[in-house]
Amino acid sequence: MSHPDAASVAEAAAILREAGNVVVLTGAGISVESGIPDFRSAGGLWEEFPPEDYATVEALRRDPERVWEFFRALGRGLVEPRPNPAHDALARLEQEGHVHAVVTQNIDGLHRRAGSRRVIEVHGSHHELRCEGCAARRPFGLADLEPGPAPTCEACSGLLRPDVVLFGEPVDAIDEAIALVEGCDCLWVIGTSALVYPVAGLPALVQARGGAVIDCNVEAGGIPGAVEVCGPAGRTIPRIAAAVAGGASEIA
Ligand code: NAD
Ligand code: ZN
Repeated sequence: MSHPDAASVAEAAAILREAGNVVVLTGAGISVESGIPDFRSAGGLWEEFPPEDYATVEALRRDPERVWEFFRALGRGLVEPRPNPAHDALARLEQEGHVHAVVTQNIDGLHRRAGSRRVIEVHGSHHELRCEGCAARRPFGLADLEPGPAPTCEACSGLLRPDVVLFGEPVDAIDEAIALVEGCDCLWVIGTSALVYPVAGLPALVQARGGAVIDCNVEAGGIPGAVEVCGPAGRTIPRIAAAVAGGASEIA
């Protein structure tokens, strides 16, 4: 189904209005309409850069120059994209007090750029570089996209790498994400297959305590027991946000 039906939009909006504490969980799907394809689809980055060769901590230590080819390809795809109406609507809902926090698996920084304030990036951010030696940080600049040796740290000459979580690395921010989710009575899942642990366990955590889970995705049936709103996030999220703000009488 590609068009959200009014009933599911109204049901989701009613849950969001009545919930005391809403936490949003987003994945690659929310940024697809900003022009960032997910990795695993045909034409996605994993086709040219298989994750086992390019996105592991072992590969980075073994051959940083090669892994930087992947970081640059990823970085080039993040220069143009702007937040889309789904990111914008979530930022507004936070300002209006309807959303407490956004937990995202995305590394594109689009929630912050849209104006969301409380954002937990569980897989880190591609817009910042971190030194493997001394943990110094600096922004990922346009010059870092140019082919050449892997950039190094001004302070200690250590290897710089994007501040993202590679396969084989701990997901440091997950404790903060779990604490937020444990405190919510509604988890609003948007554009994630919710298959990748540890984030995949969060919907069940909320449901086990009697909380509500809303699932907005182009595909149906991803999260058992969730209230589903099917369709592209750039259309469904602004509609739900308008219904939350407008109240039940204006939805139908
Ligand atoms: P995923 O690829 O497993 O799932 C994406 C989900 O989005 C799918 O369920 C798909 O049905 C849904 N979807 C696709 N288009 C949509 C749309 N327009 N509206 C709503 N839903 C849509 O992604 P994932 O679960 O987030 O895991 C992939 C990992 O790769 C992420 O954790 C992230 O670290 C990384 N990644 C990040 C970005 C980014 O930062 N934008 C992009 C690709 C991958
Ligand atoms: Zn350093």
